[in-house]
Amino acid sequence: MSFEYAPAPESRTVVSIKAKYGHFIGGKFVAGNKHFPTINPATEEVLSQIALAGKAEVDAAVKAARKAYTTTWSKMSGRERGKYLFRIARIMQERSREFAVLETLDNGKPIRESRDTDIPLAAAHFFYHAGWADKLEYAGLGTVTKAHGVAGQIIPWNFPLLMLAWKVAPALAAGNTVVLKPAESTSLTALLFAEVCQQAELPAGVVNIVTGDGSTGALIVNHPGIDKIAFTGSTEVGKLIARAVAPTSKSVTLELGGKAANIVFEDAAIDEAVEGIVNGIFFNQGHVCCAGSRLLLQENIAEEVLEKLKVRMAKIRVGDPMDKNTDLGAINSKEQLNKITELTATGDSEGAQRWSAPCELPGKGFWFAPTIFIGVTQTHRIAREEIFGPVLSVLTFRTPQEAIDKANNTPFGLSAGIWSDKGSKILWASSQLRAGVIWANTFNKFDPTSPFGGYKESGWGREGGRHGLSAYLKGASHE
Ligand code: ADP
Repeated sequence: MSFEYAPAPESRTVVSIKAKYGHFIGGKFVAGNKHFPTINPATEEVLSQIALAGKAEVDAAVKAARKAYTTTWSKMSGRERGKYLFRIARIMQERSREFAVLETLDNGKPIRESRDTDIPLAAAHFFYHAGWADKLEYAGLGTVTKAHGVAGQIIPWNFPLLMLAWKVAPALAAGNTVVLKPAESTSLTALLFAEVCQQAELPAGVVNIVTGDGSTGALIVNHPGIDKIAFTGSTEVGKLIARAVAPTSKSVTLELGGKAANIVFEDAAIDEAVEGIVNGIFFNQGHVCCAGSRLLLQENIAEEVLEKLKVRMAKIRVGDPMDKNTDLGAINSKEQLNKITELTATGDSEGAQRWSAPCELPGKGFWFAPTIFIGVTQTHRIAREEIFGPVLSVLTFRTPQEAIDKANNTPFGLSAGIWSDKGSKILWASSQLRAGVIWANTFNKFDPTSPFGGYKESGWGREGGRHGLSAYLKGASHE
């Protein structure tokens, strides 16, 4: 017998979206010059018009941040700064439903994830860093800690508010002021966060938010009034940024792409591993830099795992992100859908076997069914390049050493997963894997206390925990 789910839509009445937005500079919303639309990727409905910041707006934001830094924020005690961070965290919690709905409308991610993951984690990041603000000298980074000054922060569209929290909370706790640019397709929760800053009576200019595209991002990166750049996004843009800041005195942290191996050894608890594989690649439509996008299965259990995985994948509910039962929402943009479609076509042409979960995709909006490719080899593009979508490449191995060799055979090194019943094997494998975050018998777990970041082309520096804090302090050791 099969049971049908009745629709369980979340109400959108909790949010009020303006027809047009400006920038948040010096504590005030200022009108923009040029605008571009932001859409709901699940319906293609235009939600609002977002301002595109040019040189004048970026200059004004940097100036406001500098003024706030020299006149207010750098003079304030850590204890006082901490109070503002606590206040922001509490307001985010109070307004969490509003944030969750807005995030889902603008990004396309399921309301279950924005409600239960993105927003609570964003608030947790502020709570955690609020606690650090008056204890910087106890962080093991030296007894005299000093902020950089003005931090320029550029974030992607996959976890809009959470990435803002990862950037803004440590910057403020360490005593920096910020100019932040959200991604062009997901600016709305950053603009709501600007309202939270006003509500928390954060001194004007401590947080400035300018919206725009890559051209705005480049203006921030190249601005001489900025002391530190923090970027999360594609490896391609990360390389451009590294080149741009190389001849300057700006310090920089980069959190870039990934192609994580999720390794299932023969002694793993198979049913748990299947859940972990699904969470690893289908969470947030696979728009996750640390997604477990390369599944490495020990050969003797491959057939059993794949059989169970297909049964489980057929149960993934794809559709309206605002429905509380939805597991997999919309692809964030037409461009991203095209990229996924193109890369998966190379999977077919290079000889891997595609299998997609049977599901009905909505007629409007951008959608991609949960998909796996079997028979993938290490040279296939789908094994080497980040797809950033709900697509899993499956490879096999015979010995633990072969698993490690294959897992490390990538230009990236952001994360990895290990599934095994044996603690000694987990410890051995995690010491061999060249990845910044390694999950054992779980995947995609995040916590503000835990440093996150990559090896090789996955980036420079860490975010979160004491290590992440050090990136916002001058002269602090980065080990
Ligand atoms: P994605 O593939 O996730 O869209 P991008 O690296 O293109 O990643 O975008 C991440 C962020 O970087 C976005 O906010 C985007 O506007 C910004 N960005 C894009 N190009 C540049 C650039 N040349 N300099 C600075 N920021 C940029």
